[in-house]
This record gives sequence, C-alpha cells and structure tokens, in this order.
Amino acid sequence: MAEPITIATWPFGRTAVETAMKLLAKGEPALDAALAGAQAVEDDTSIRNSVGFGSLPDRLGRLTLDACVMDGRTLACGAVACVEHIKHPAALARRVMEKTPHVLLVGEGAKWFALQQGFPLEVPYTAESIKEWLESHPDKKKPDAKDKAPVRADGASSINVDEFNHDTVTVLSLDKKGHLGGVCTTSGLGYKLPGRVGDSPIIGAGLYVDDLAGAAGATGVGEEIIRIGGSLFIAEQLRAGKSPQEACELACKRANAASGRRGVHPARVAFLALDPKGNVGAACTEKTGFKYAVGRGDKVELLTAKEIGPQA
Ligand code: ASP
Repeated sequence: MAEPITIATWPFGRTAVETAMKLLAKGEPALDAALAGAQAVEDDTSIRNSVGFGSLPDRLGRLTLDACVMDGRTLACGAVACVEHIKHPAALARRVMEKTPHVLLVGEGAKWFALQQGFPLEVPYTAESIKEWLESHPDKKKPDAKDKAPVRADGASSINVDEFNHDTVTVLSLDKKGHLGGVCTTSGLGYKLPGRVGDSPIIGAGLYVDDLAGAAGATGVGEEIIRIGGSLFIAEQLRAGKSPQEACELACKRANAASGRRGVHPARVAFLALDPKGNVGAACTEKTGFKYAVGRGDKVELLTAKEIGPQA
C-alpha cells in the first residue's frame, strides 16, 4: 500500500492539495482526487488572472479555458482547449477521455460536446470584469510600458507575459494503490490572441502521467514548454532512472537552451514531478519565483522550487 501524496503548482495549489488529500485518505483513485483538487481551484473566483471563471480574457474579451487529465494506470487521457462558457474544463476533459475515442476537443466542438454531456453553459462575465478588462487591456498601455515588454528574437510578436497575467494549476496525485493521476487547468495567458492554446491541454507538454515512469506537470510560458515537450521529457527522464528533482532541473536546462537558441533569456517555465514511490521534485527557470504545494498525510507544505539559470 502506497502513502498517498499530492503536489500542485503555485500557492493556490494548496487548495487543490487539501481537497485531493481528503479523497486519497478515503482510498479514492488518484485521478478522482487530482480532478477534485483542480476543480476546487477552478471554483475559486478570487484567483483573478489564471484559472477558471474570473480569470483574464483574451484580446477580444472572451474567456477561454484549457485543461487536460491523464490516468497513469492506462495512459488514458483527455483534453479540451479554447472552450468558452464551461466552468469546469478539467471535468469536461475527463469526459473526452471516458466518452470519446479522441484525446483533444477544441472551441465550439468542445462546447457542443459539453452540452451533450449535460454541462451547463455559463456566462463568466460580470460588469466588473468587463470594466477591468477594458481598463487593463495591453493595447491601451502607454508607450513606455510597451518598451519594457520582453523583446523576442524569434520574429514572433512579443508575447506579453508578466507575473500577473498567467498561471496554471497542475495537480499530481499518488493513491493508496500506487497509481498516479494528473490534471492541468488554466485560462492561459491574459490578453492572448484569440485561438491561442498553450501547453496546459497538450498531453506531453503541460502534463504526462505514467505509472511505469512517473507524473510531471508544467506552468509558465506555454510556447516554451511545448517547444521542449516538457512533461513527457521529464517522464522519460524518470523512466531512465533520474529522480524527480533531477528530471525537473534537466527540463529547465533544456528550456533555457531552447530559448537561448532563439536569443530569448531567460525561459520562463516551471515543472513539478512525482514518481511512483512518492518522491517529489520541482524546478523553475530564473525569475519565475515558482512555489508549489505538497501534501502527505494531513500535512500540506508550500515549498519554493530551485531556480535553474542559463549557465547551469
Ligand atoms: N502554461 C500556461 C499557458 O501557457 C500559463 C501558465 O501556466 O502560466 O497557457
């Protein structure tokens, strides 16, 4: 019998961990626990910039959400991206996994499927949130603020990232039977281009879970995480015998090297990992300030991840 454990990204991950640990203590499966934890964060509308309703919309003012789930026993997985008017995208991702032969549904198709599955369509906007969106829209920023935006050497228009306009909750659980489950859910980057999808609903980028290797998840700039296949990269390091800590550090080094090749420093990514024995690791690139919550037994701790600089 394994000792249950849950880890989750960022300080709001504490809510996810506390919720998941209660279920794991009762002997519930890892995926159910991780999903309940992620949904508790989706339901917290005090999180203003990054997960669930109440988060920052895209450039046109539409709130679109991304999520995925993965079951380490069978590698079953499901995801939704760019889905509007659905409050619980992680639960919808699970339905994709369970009720369809597919892995990823997007946009209108995901919404149609949600309706078919009995999910209510809900309106996430309030007079207050529309006012806030209009007032803080980046197109309205003064030239000096724009000058400070990170300069991208890869020819793409600059991705406007600051510490207040993104984050993701990624939740990884190990249950009493020794199975792993993981969930990732986000609104992505605030003011993103309409249709932009980050790493979070991409299996292998924002999340990967395999009982035979381990579980890994990501947060940070999705484009940089996708480019290195971050979570699958970590799972493969675990499979090859690296510890979760070593694997997360290697992923950060790879992200730094990848962004360095395009003249962009530093990469802005963070990873966490959990192996089938309950060992935990986390690392982030410089200036990410990544914190994560870890629950074992009835104790939940908030830890600061090790930063990996471009020279490492
Ligand atoms: N990874 C998310 C995205 O790119 C954002 C974040 O976790 O900060 O959509």
